[in-house]
Amino acid sequence: MTGDRGLILLIEDEPQMRRFLRVTLQSRGYDLIEASSGEEGIAQSATRKPDVILLDLGLPDLDGLEVLGRIREWSQTPVIILSAREQEQDKIRALDAGADDYLTKPFSAGELLARIRVALRHQVMQEGQTEPVFVQDTLRVDLAKRRVFLKESEIHLTPIEYRLLAYLIKNAGKVITHKQLLKEVWGPAYANQAHYVRVYMGMLRHKLEEDPSRPHFFINEPGVGYRLRFEVPPEQDS
Ligand code: CA
Repeated sequence: MTGDRGLILLIEDEPQMRRFLRVTLQSRGYDLIEASSGEEGIAQSATRKPDVILLDLGLPDLDGLEVLGRIREWSQTPVIILSAREQEQDKIRALDAGADDYLTKPFSAGELLARIRVALRHQVMQEGQTEPVFVQDTLRVDLAKRRVFLKESEIHLTPIEYRLLAYLIKNAGKVITHKQLLKEVWGPAYANQAHYVRVYMGMLRHKLEEDPSRPHFFINEPGVGYRLRFEVPPEQDS
């Protein structure tokens, strides 16, 4: 099968995990390059120019965070972190250091493929294809006119609520840490005011969720941040 859906670089030292990912990705038409160490991964990311990088945090030679930092010195390729549960703090640091998303092991093939589709979609958008209207289920946001609609009714948002929503839309489908939200929406001086995010997220949910106590759009990532629901449908097999 030819991999016409994208080239994925997997930086992971565990043979079992590599086998699982190889089968999952190749059967969906992705091309895969494998690196079992950090140094090899950095080299491959420079020479092969992958579309998405899957990066394990626990590597034998280098810390995954260091690998990310070195790749980010010259590349904006989407990086999805693969982490074990005990690496919770590192996961947040990786997101703040420029990773695009993360998956906690064990994860399902479906979850992984959905995250890869989001990452590829964002890469296309970064290359200049902006989408002025965001639509997900009953939510529609006209970013040019700054107007928000739920079903057909227009919803009024305060300027901060709108900024928060617009930033989540810009990163739709990706997890955003509390720190990133504070920095981008309120400014660098607010980086430690985590309660602002909670309060305003509550207001957005109240205005835009059918049942604010069981959010559909504004998904909480416990201990990390939030993710705006964004489903990129799988490509149909031809
Ligand atoms: Ca590992």
